[in-house]
Amino acid sequence: MKVSEIFYSIEGEGIAIGKPQVFIRLTDCNLRCTWCDTKSASDNGKLMTADEIITQVSTYPCKNVSITGGEPLLQKQEVLELVTKLKSKDFWIQLNTNGTIFNEDIFRIIDLLTIDCKCPSSMMKSDVSILKNVKESFDQKSQLKFVIANDEDFEYAEKMLAELNFETSIFQPEWRNKKYAKKIVEKVKTHSINTRIIIQQHKVIWGNKKGK
Ligand code: SF4
Repeated sequence: MKVSEIFYSIEGEGIAIGKPQVFIRLTDCNLRCTWCDTKSASDNGKLMTADEIITQVSTYPCKNVSITGGEPLLQKQEVLELVTKLKSKDFWIQLNTNGTIFNEDIFRIIDLLTIDCKCPSSMMKSDVSILKNVKESFDQKSQLKFVIANDEDFEYAEKMLAELNFETSIFQPEWRNKKYAKKIVEKVKTHSINTRIIIQQHKVIWGNKKGK
C-alpha cells in the first residue's frame, strides 16, 4: 500500500489524547478540506507491504498504532490485511477516517474508530448514511469528531450530534483559529451539549511540523 510516513509520537487529538502511538499515515485522500493539515499525504508516498509496515512499526517500543491519512479506507483491501496482521500480534489499533467510506470488516477488528464529520468551513461533506451505520453497529468503539472554526460549524455540529446521538463526540477547535476555542467552551456550556472539547495537543507542543 502507499505510505506517506511512519513515525512514533503521542496521540494529539480525541479521547486517546496523550497515548504513545506509532502513526501509519497512508497516502491519498478523496476530500480536499480547506484547513487540511496533512496535504503532504495526498499525493506522495512509498509502496510498502503490510509485512514491511509491521516490521518498521515493530522497531518502536510501543504496541499502539494509529492508521491515518489522507483517507486510509481508499486502500481498504490493504488496510484489512494490515489490521488483521497487527491484531494477530496484539496491537491496539486506532483508525481515522473522514466519514465517506464504510468498511465493516475493518471496523470489527480495530479498537477505536475516529470519524471526522466534516463541518461547513471544510467545504467538504461526510456521508450521513455512513455515520448512521457506524452509530448503529460500532458506537461503543467510536468517537465522532467535529473540527469547528466558526458559528456555522458549531450549529452544524450541534445539529448533527443531536441527530446521530453518538455516545462519544469531540468538538475540536480548528487549529488556525485558537480564539474561537473559548467561544466553543461557552456555547457548549450554555447549550448543555454532552461532548468533549479537546484541542490538538501536538500543535501546542510542536506547532505544525510534519511527523509529530
Ligand atoms: S479528509 Fe483529512 S486528509 Fe483529507 S483533505 Fe480532509 S483533513 Fe485532509
